[in-house]
This record gives sequence, structure tokens and C-alpha cells, in this order.
Amino acid sequence: MLQINKSKVSRWDQHGREHVVRVQRSGVQRTIRCETCDWRQSAQFLPWLKAEEHLAEEHQATVDPTEG
Ligand SMILES: [Zn+2]
Repeated sequence: MLQINKSKVSRWDQHGREHVVRVQRSGVQRTIRCETCDWRQSAQFLPWLKAEEHLAEEHQATVDPTEG
């Protein structure tokens, strides 16, 4: 279940390193920023999905530390 007010998405890669993408709101716009590589993107809808995609594609970080 997607938490709608999450302000960050964190994932671990296979080396156990944590990668964090922050979600910042300003009005209807949301800006997402990766703390690992300083990648930024504005996303009006579902910024968490874009954050997850970035973490998986750029950092091979797919392990959700809040699961299990
Ligand atoms: Zn990144």
C-alpha cells in the first residue's frame, strides 16, 4: 500500500548501501531529489514511483528497508 504523504523513499542496494530520494512539496508540484547522485525531477503525480524507478535503474537499489 502506497503511503500518500511519504516525504522520502529509501532503498538498499545489494551491497547494503542505503539510497534516499527526498520528496518536497511546493503547492501542487513535487520535486524529487536523490541524495546519492543529486538527480532532480519535478513530478506532479506519483513522485514515489518515479523515485523508486530512479533508485532501481541508477543505483540497483530495490530492497525496501521497511518491508519484512
Ligand atoms: Zn540517484
